[in-house]
Amino acid sequence: MTTADFFTQLYQVQSMDLELDRLRHSETHLPPLLAETRSQFELLNEQISEILDEIDRVRRASEKNERELEDYQAKLGRARAEQIKNAYDSKAQTQYENLIQQLQDRVSEIEEALEPLYERRESLTQKKSELTKEHKAMRPRLEELEGQDEKRIEALRETFAKQKVTRDKLFTDLSSVDRRAMTDYAIVRKTKSEAMVAINNGRCSGCNMQLPMLILQKVAAGKPPVPKCPSCGRLLIRV
Ligand SMILES: [Zn+2]
Repeated sequence: MTTADFFTQLYQVQSMDLELDRLRHSETHLPPLLAETRSQFELLNEQISEILDEIDRVRRASEKNERELEDYQAKLGRARAEQIKNAYDSKAQTQYENLIQQLQDRVSEIEEALEPLYERRESLTQKKSELTKEHKAMRPRLEELEGQDEKRIEALRETFAKQKVTRDKLFTDLSSVDRRAMTDYAIVRKTKSEAMVAINNGRCSGCNMQLPMLILQKVAAGKPPVPKCPSCGRLLIRV
């Protein structure tokens, strides 16, 4: 293998690595329609759960009032029975009338308090059923999109695996020619996506540093070892 071939093939390894990076990245990049549908679905879930909590709060408040109402109605019933029992005691009659009036006022107050709670519960229940319907209608669409995305990811992983085999083979072949260059390449690739860059007007196109003449001469000669940028450590090639 000539040095020029070695450089060309090392550059190919890098192109493959960048393509593999792109495939990996695509995996995490959700299609916009799926992302949008997922977030709408989650929003609906939240809204339904908030409404259920609210319905629960209203129900507890209604029940508390209902218990109180029952209690006052029982007291009222007893007061009326007592009033009848003491029908001939005029002093007691006045007392009972006052008591009955007080109890009736309280009963009316509680009934008035209950009315808006019942209305609220009805409108919440209505809203809940609308949202639940929407939620149910959206589910098959979301499941379809999720299924498509699983297939998309599967295909990406398959392509990745195939390309990785080709890349690894080329990498191994090149390592047997110049292990040092390939090790350097692998080390730089750990932190930078492009480990091998061209020289642009005497500068490293990776970090833009002006390169020393000695390095430029080495690169121009195109012979091993592959020269590295003293600033960023990237391997340098002629274009
Ligand atoms: Zn550099």
